[in-house]
Amino acid sequence: MSNRPELPPEIARRRTFAIISHPDAGKTTLTEKFLLYGGAIQMAGQVRAKGEARRTRSDFMKMEQDRGISVSASAMSFDYDGHRFNLVDTPGHSDFSEDTYRTLTAVDAAIMVIDGAKGVESQTRKLFEVCRLRDLPILTFCNKMDRESRDTFEIIDEIQENLAIDVAPVSWPIGVGRDFVGCYDMLNDRLDLMDRADRNKVAQSIAIEGLDDPRLAENVPEHLLETLREEVEMARELLPSFDRQSFLEGHLTPIWFGSAINSFGVRELMNGIRNYGPAPQPQNSASREIAPEEKPVTGFVFKVQANMDPKHRDRVAFMRLASGHFSRGMKLTHVRSKKPMAVSNPVLFLAADRELAEEAWAGDIIGIPNHGQLRIGDALTEGEALRFTGIPSFAPELLQSVRATDPMKAKHLEKALMQFAEEGAAKVFKPVIGSGFIVGVVGALQFEVLASRIQLEYGIPVRFEGSQFTSARWVTGPKDDVESFAATNKGHMAQDHDGDLVYLTRLQWDIDRIERDHPSLKLSATKEMM
Ligand code: GDP
Repeated sequence: MSNRPELPPEIARRRTFAIISHPDAGKTTLTEKFLLYGGAIQMAGQVRAKGEARRTRSDFMKMEQDRGISVSASAMSFDYDGHRFNLVDTPGHSDFSEDTYRTLTAVDAAIMVIDGAKGVESQTRKLFEVCRLRDLPILTFCNKMDRESRDTFEIIDEIQENLAIDVAPVSWPIGVGRDFVGCYDMLNDRLDLMDRADRNKVAQSIAIEGLDDPRLAENVPEHLLETLREEVEMARELLPSFDRQSFLEGHLTPIWFGSAINSFGVRELMNGIRNYGPAPQPQNSASREIAPEEKPVTGFVFKVQANMDPKHRDRVAFMRLASGHFSRGMKLTHVRSKKPMAVSNPVLFLAADRELAEEAWAGDIIGIPNHGQLRIGDALTEGEALRFTGIPSFAPELLQSVRATDPMKAKHLEKALMQFAEEGAAKVFKPVIGSGFIVGVVGALQFEVLASRIQLEYGIPVRFEGSQFTSARWVTGPKDDVESFAATNKGHMAQDHDGDLVYLTRLQWDIDRIERDHPSLKLSATKEMM
């Protein structure tokens, strides 16, 4: 990754990123402060509901009902100091890893939030690994420094060891817990002091000329001064210093220490994204790399959200613009169907509101209302038959069969299930033999969420039950071989919502055997969604 000098200024000023973290580390609080400083909300507390809402299933459902909140938070755009920030929300619950993975295909960088007392937690590690697969540049924010936290060197060591990435401190905390007063800015030699009295007040920042500057002693309590001097000297000697290229390549992460709830360190982090974060990057397609500065508009759908407005059965497809300058009303080609599509009412999500997007540039995320034509992985272009790569569909890890408690509603149930399959919320398999459906998800909570949504949005009470199958594999290979295999294994075959063939089984042994006996066939756990 690199920032390309040839980018037009409108594209160069864009920063499209996600925040990754373990639940409770402070992602919602940090998001809120971003929106506050981005002028998108007037006071803290407006997106609060969301972070708390997802903690329990019933609250999650309430949140889902209140589509306004959950949807406006899928992608938020705001301006910060001459830059356009596009913050793409990653679902917080560990059950939604597939959705999260796809979200991360739409961003150019990620902010990793960790809790200063807890360090690297399980979900942080998983999400980090996904970022690494794509060599995403990562900025680290060590949060909750106003509480008892670990030793600074220890935290940095843990990240380096655990995640195998170099960590460059760009700020250094002064004091811990109750004693925490602020940070020393390692890049600009400044002293940033936290205001404990006013949580929404931006830190006071004082220019310092080196560690012997008397202003340091004037502003830092005496008992913390010696430690600060020693630690900063040691850090400069022992730890990597910030190197922008290494950061952009994903080998090094700058770390800021702060307290989101006290608005401390947030601006410094935002400045970090503004100054060092990557501008929109080229995207891969099957045929070639798409550069953001290319004139023709291209983009790919990475998320579909249905029933945003309960009165209409419409969906919103979230598209990341890979190149060009889009303007409202443009006619684009929907590559999969080869049909033209007039994008007349695209939306931008500005915190709590959605707004018509009059224009958008490479790097932006726009929402396109549609009636189901747009699916995850779809490309829209000005004519070129592009296929963007890298948006996978995972084999579900849990399978259950589902049926409507009222048999008269079976047809409606099929419609509901297909919609969720298109949204990417679940895999739906229609067995070749018999009736009913088998639904596959990545995490168990999703069955409950689905059941509630089917009831809520379609008025169909359903029951999920254990299925005789536990694994699903997409079957590909020469047409004749696939057909004869399917004909002799009818009891195991099903079709997914695209009509692609899937082999269902409960034994890994079966899968191994088939691969041995049918070398021309491929049984895969993922399917590229395009
Ligand atoms: P999320 O689950 O990652 O979105 O985390 P939240 O933003 O909801 O924060 C989890 C909890 O930590 C909430 O109770 C916050 O008020 C609290 N919290 C967030 N930032 C800070 C901080 O800087 N210091 C302290 N002490 N608490 C914080």
